[in-house]
Amino acid sequence: MFQYLTLPVTAFDQNCSLVWCDQTQQAAVIDPGGDLDVILAEVKRLGLTLGQIWLTHAHIDHAGGAGELAQRLGLPIIGPGEGDQFWIDGLPKQSQMFGFPPAQLFTPTRWLHDGDTVTVGNCTLQVRHCPGHTPGHVVFYSPEAKRAFVGDVLFAGSIGRTDFPQGDHATLIASIKNRLWPMGDDTVFIPGHGPESTFGRERRTNPYVADQ
Ligand SMILES: [Zn+2]
Repeated sequence: MFQYLTLPVTAFDQNCSLVWCDQTQQAAVIDPGGDLDVILAEVKRLGLTLGQIWLTHAHIDHAGGAGELAQRLGLPIIGPGEGDQFWIDGLPKQSQMFGFPPAQLFTPTRWLHDGDTVTVGNCTLQVRHCPGHTPGHVVFYSPEAKRAFVGDVLFAGSIGRTDFPQGDHATLIASIKNRLWPMGDDTVFIPGHGPESTFGRERRTNPYVADQ
């Protein structure tokens, strides 16, 4: 069965998630933006074998620790989409701008595309490309667990910012309505910041994307 634990990391309280298969204890970490020692302490406490890094997008609070973690443990970096290459290239500048520890540059082992799958132990998650906040933003979805890790696409009561280079509001709204809503009203999503919610709740109450 698929399990997960969300850990707020960095000064931005970014929701890094450990995801694992409880038959094999194989784990992946989604968006290790920083605080690697906190993340690795949880991996150890839970008795997991961390084998992969998955990225939703390449903003500093989500990807800032990925390069160092990959190098320290010899892990592959999977995702985000190629459209975020310029954000990866800009990580050193992002870390300076926001007062983060220096970010180590990296090249993803595998870029992700809409319709791809990623696997941890015996659990497979689907990948959806959800541009708008960043052009290469992807989301990880487990139909069995009815959970979606949506990064900065959608929040409880809000949506991702689109005022960055290559952000686009209409594209973000289309990603949410066309790619997240079909996952079902009862699917719980884990946003990049703040509490979990369900797509059904956002369709009823989120002022940016509620059904008319
Ligand atoms: Zn972001």
